[in-house]
Amino acid sequence: MALLMKPECEKCHQTLPVDAVAFICSYECTFCDGCSLEMKNICPNCSGELLRRPRRK
Ligand SMILES: [Zn+2]
Ligand SMILES: [Zn+2]
Repeated sequence: MALLMKPECEKCHQTLPVDAVAFICSYECTFCDGCSLEMKNICPNCSGELLRRPRRK
């Protein structure tokens, strides 16, 4: 099962290319580096832990 690669941060709507640093929770809410840091790696939608998204080449 492939991860759904969302193209932008759900908080600030910054574009997140597949090779950019991004953070996701287990429900695939996606956030940029800056927002994730600001939220202390806790997803505001589901309170899940945000983990670094693996990069796809
Ligand atoms: Zn953001
Ligand atoms: Zn979430």
